[in-house]
Amino acid sequence: MRFAQSTGRGSASLRDRADLVIVGAGIVGASAAYHLAHLGLTDVLVIDQGPLFETGGSTSHAPGLVFQTNGSRTMCRLAQYSVELYRSLDLDGEPCFHAVGGVEVATTPERMQELKRRLGFARSYGIEGATLLSPQETVERIPILDPGAILGAYFVPTDGIAKAIRIVAALARAAEAKGVAFEGGVRVTGFDVRDGRVRGVLTDRGRIECERVLVCAGIWGPAVGRMAGVPIPLAVLQHQLVWTHPLPELAADAGVEVRHPILRHQDVSLYYRQRGDRYAIGNYRHEPILFEPDDLRPYREGEPIPSVEPFTPEHFQVAYEASVRLLPPVAGRIDESSAINGMFSFTPDMGSIVGESAEVGGFWICEAVWVTHAGGMGRMVAEWIAEGEPSMDLAEADANRFYPHMTTPPYVWARGAQQYREVYDIIHPLQQMEHPRRLRLTPFARRHEELGARFFASAGWERPQWFEANAPLVPPDAVWARREGWAARFWSPAVGAEHLATRERVALFDLTPYVKLDVEGPDACGFLERVCANRIDRPVGAVVYTAMLTPKGGIRCDLTVARLGPQRFRVVTGGGSGMHDLAWLRRQVRDGERVSILDRTSQWFALGLFGPRAREVLSGVTDSDVSNEALPYLRAAEIQVGEVPVLAQRISYVGELGWELYGPIEMGERAWDLLWEAGGEHGLVAAGMGAFDSLRLEKGYRLWGQDIHTEHDPFEAGLAFAVKMDKPDFQGKEALEAIAARGHTHRLACMTLDDPAHVAMGKEPIRAGGSVVAYATSAGYGYSIGRGIVYGYLPVELAEPGTPVEIEFFDERLPAHVVPEPLWDPEGARLRA
Ligand code: FAD
Repeated sequence: MRFAQSTGRGSASLRDRADLVIVGAGIVGASAAYHLAHLGLTDVLVIDQGPLFETGGSTSHAPGLVFQTNGSRTMCRLAQYSVELYRSLDLDGEPCFHAVGGVEVATTPERMQELKRRLGFARSYGIEGATLLSPQETVERIPILDPGAILGAYFVPTDGIAKAIRIVAALARAAEAKGVAFEGGVRVTGFDVRDGRVRGVLTDRGRIECERVLVCAGIWGPAVGRMAGVPIPLAVLQHQLVWTHPLPELAADAGVEVRHPILRHQDVSLYYRQRGDRYAIGNYRHEPILFEPDDLRPYREGEPIPSVEPFTPEHFQVAYEASVRLLPPVAGRIDESSAINGMFSFTPDMGSIVGESAEVGGFWICEAVWVTHAGGMGRMVAEWIAEGEPSMDLAEADANRFYPHMTTPPYVWARGAQQYREVYDIIHPLQQMEHPRRLRLTPFARRHEELGARFFASAGWERPQWFEANAPLVPPDAVWARREGWAARFWSPAVGAEHLATRERVALFDLTPYVKLDVEGPDACGFLERVCANRIDRPVGAVVYTAMLTPKGGIRCDLTVARLGPQRFRVVTGGGSGMHDLAWLRRQVRDGERVSILDRTSQWFALGLFGPRAREVLSGVTDSDVSNEALPYLRAAEIQVGEVPVLAQRISYVGELGWELYGPIEMGERAWDLLWEAGGEHGLVAAGMGAFDSLRLEKGYRLWGQDIHTEHDPFEAGLAFAVKMDKPDFQGKEALEAIAARGHTHRLACMTLDDPAHVAMGKEPIRAGGSVVAYATSAGYGYSIGRGIVYGYLPVELAEPGTPVEIEFFDERLPAHVVPEPLWDPEGARLRA
C-alpha cells in the first residue's frame, strides 16, 4: 500500500526554515503535527528518513490492536481519546478504525480475578459498556475460539483495529490543509545546539533553521537524542507477529477487513486479530530479544524495512501450541513466510517519554508511544508546546523523570527486557522488580537488614516497607491482622504494628530518598515566592508546606521549603517525583534571575523521628533545646545528635510530634545508632513506608501523583490553607481567582469502609446511587481508627459527611460512608505538642 504524494514530498530542495521540525512521520509524529495545526501552530515541517507514509518504522507493520483498558488513568484516557479521533477519520472514504470490540480471556482463576480488576479500571476511568462474558458469550463473538479452553472473558465494545498507516495519511492530509509540510527521504544527522538551546536541525539534505524540534523517532529515539546530548532511555525489543494462511472456517469473511473482536490471551502473553480469512498472532511469550539502537539500519529502497528483523521460529513454539488450544483452526496453518520480528520500544518503567528536555531548550520528545495512545499523546505534546501545559497530567510520561542511573544502558536494557516479559502479567500495584536492585543504599542499610527489613525500591533506593522484627508487636486480637487475598500481598501485619507504635510511642523512618534541593541566591526568595502558592518570605528558620502551580492553577508539585538564611532555602520533595520537580523548578528560573538550584540528595541522610515520645528520644542525644518553645512546629534549627550535625525540621508527614533530621550521609549510621540507643527505653521502633503511607492517609495528607496533580487545583483538593491569595502575585493565582469565582463540581472527600475487616488498594470505582461517581485516588487501612480509608473526588453534593457510597473491589461492593476529615487529630494538637 502506497499513498499518493502531495506537494513538497520528495521534492529536491528542502525548506531551510520552520518554527518547529518534527523528526519522524510515524503515527506519533503525524498525530503531533495534526494537533499542532489544530492549535494554530502551522509553521511545522515533518521529516522522515523513509518514504511517506510507509516509512519503515514500527507504525508500518503494527497490526493496530487498540485495547483501551489500563491501570494508569492517564493512559486509559489517552487511549479513549485516540479511539475517538481514529473513528472520526477516513481516507478517501475508507474508515481508519474498526470498532469490533476487544476480548481478554482468562484460563486461570487468578486471571479471572484480574479481569474483574480491569473491569474496575474501565469503570473508574470512564470506558463505556465494559463487561464480563461467559465462555459461551465469548464464542458467540469469536466463533473459532474453543469455549472449553477459557473460564470467561472481559469485553470492551469500543476497542478495535486502528489502520495505522491510513491514520497517518489522514492526519497528515488534515495537517497539510492547515499549512504543515511533510517531507520523506530526509535523514536527520545532527542538531545545532548553542547556549543550551536548539538552533537548527542538520540533515543529509541540508540544514533547517528552527527554534524547536520534536523527536518522534520511535526506536531510533536514543540515537537521535544522543545527537543533541539528550538521553532517551528506551530499549528496543523484537516482538513476533505471525499470520496464518487462509482459514476455511473464515472463508465467508475473505473480503472484509475484520469482523471478530480483537483478542488477548494474557496467560500466555499472546494477542490475536482477524483480517479477512486470516488471523494474526502477536507473541510476547519468549525471552526478550534486545536490539542495539545504534545498529538500526536507515531506510533503503529495496531492502527489508529497518524496524523488522528476520523471524526466529524457535521463539514461537509455546505461542503456537497455546494458540492451537485456544483457536483450534489455526493448527497447521501458520504462514511462516509472513512472520516477522518487529521492533518497538520499552522504557524502564513502561511509561512514555514526553516533554521538553531539561538539558536542551526547544528539544521536545514524544517517544515510546503505542498506536493505542498515539492520538492522545500527540495531542498532549502539541498542547504542551503550543499552550505551555498539557490538559492531562503527564508526570508518569515526563521526559525528565529519570535519575541519571536510569538512563544508563545496563539499566535501560535490564528494565526494558523485564517490562517486555511482564507486559501481560498480573502485576500487583506493590510488586517490585527484582533486577537491577541495590543500586542506591542509604547509610542505614546495615541496620535495616539486621531488623529484617522487607525492601521495596523507590527511585533506585532500597527502602524498608516493613520490618520483620516488628511482627511480634502485632496485637493478637487485631481484626486487620487477618487480611487475606490481593490486599494481603506485599503486605505484613507488621505494617499495622509500626503504625500503632508511631501513634503510641515513637518510630524512626528512613527518609533519605527525599530529594533535597538548595535554592540560593539574591533572587531566591522572590523566585520561590513567585512559583509557590504559600508565603515563602518568612523569618529564617520557618518551614512551609506549599504547592507549586501551573499557570492554569493545577498542582505541579507539593513540597516543603525551609528558610535557612536570608538568601538560602532548602526545598524537600518526594523521591518518586524528585527529578520531575527539579526539572520543572529549573525551567521556572527567568533570564537574569540570580538563583542557583543544586540537588543535595546524595549529600544528606534524612531520618524521621515521629511519635508522642519523639522529644524524649531526641533530648537524650542532643544538648540543644528541642522544647516546643525553642523549636515549635514548622521551624527548623541546626542541632547536634551526638557528634552528628543535623538540620532538624519540626514537621511530619505522619501527623505526630517529631522532626525530619538531615545530616551528612556518611554519619548516618552514627546518628541512627545514637537515636536507637536513646529510644530503647521509650519503645522506639524502626518503621517502613507501609506504615508511613497509612499514617499519612489517616491524617489526610495528600499524595502527589495520586490525590493531587496538575488536573486538580488546591481548592478542590482541600489545600486552600497552603494558598495565600493575599500575596501580590504567584504563578497560577489568576487562574485560581477564576476557578474560585466559577466554583467547583467535585471535591476530594474522605470515606471509610463500614466493615473494619475491609480494605481497598486505590483506583477502585466509587459508586453512589447505583452508578460510578468517582475512583479511589488513595486507599489503605487506618490502623488507629480501625477502618479502611478511601479518598476520591466526589461530586460536591455527595462529598458531605454521612453520604453512603460503595467501593467496588473486584466483584464485591464494600459499603462505605463519607466522613469528616482528617480522621486523625483534626486540631493538629499532636503535631504542635
Ligand atoms: P515509528 O512508526 O517507528 O516512526 C518513527 C519514524 O522516525 C520512522 O518513520 C523513522 O523512519 C523516523 N526516523 C527515525 N530516525 C530518523 C532520522 N534520523 N531522520 C529522519 N527520520 C527518522 N501498538 C499498538 O498500539 N497496537 C498494536 O497492535 C501494536 N502491535 C505492534 C506489533 C509489532 C510487531 C510491533 C513491533 C509494534 C506494535 N505496536 C502496537 C507498537 C507500535 O507499532 C509503535 O509503538 C508505534 O507505531 C510507534 O510509532 P512512532 O511514530 O513512535 O514510531
